[in-house]
Amino acid sequence: MTRWAPGVHRSTQPIEPPQQSRTRGWSDVLQVIPAVLKHLHYRTDTHAFAVVIDADASPLHQPAHEAPGGEVEKCRLCQLRRVVAQTQTQLRLVPGRVPVQVAIGTAVPAIEAWYRCGLEPHINEITCLQNPQLGSDFHTRNHLKRYVYGTERPSLTLETQQAVTAAQRLVQSRSVLESLFPNGFGSLARSVRREHSVILTKTIVLLGNL
Ligand SMILES: [Zn+2]
Repeated sequence: MTRWAPGVHRSTQPIEPPQQSRTRGWSDVLQVIPAVLKHLHYRTDTHAFAVVIDADASPLHQPAHEAPGGEVEKCRLCQLRRVVAQTQTQLRLVPGRVPVQVAIGTAVPAIEAWYRCGLEPHINEITCLQNPQLGSDFHTRNHLKRYVYGTERPSLTLETQQAVTAAQRLVQSRSVLESLFPNGFGSLARSVRREHSVILTKTIVLLGNL
């Protein structure tokens, strides 16, 4: 099935992930990424793969991490990049196949903050950087869930519905999202621009609420 992603003016085609890629948390994500990348490379004609993970209470990614040797061990974005880079070095060249483009983002403190971007001025990455205890506070993340879903324990169906609604709104104001979330979303957006790829809203929806 080919579809047009809103706002990107290019056709996109969803790719089914491998069966074993269902995850239940951050450590699972790190473990399945190599298998997912290998599956996409050897068994599909996927062009682009976007991964978004909640920062939760981890150290937030910052420009200093981009310098050679500057990566931070517990920063989730740095960790994801390392695992992706290691996996890519293991992939054999397949004739006629271009390497899968990978874009990685971290939602600060959680993906629900992106969903409320522009609707609540105080919800942004800068506030979390200036007040690290805010993003790492479990109550803040639960508060965001209540904002978005009306409950702290949404069903997967409700999470998906809200993610799609938010993606359709935000695709019209990506510059605002990037200015309010310059590191976590900015990294994703810069990768997408660099690779001349598209924003795969469906992939963001699938992985955003891990
Ligand atoms: Zn980092």
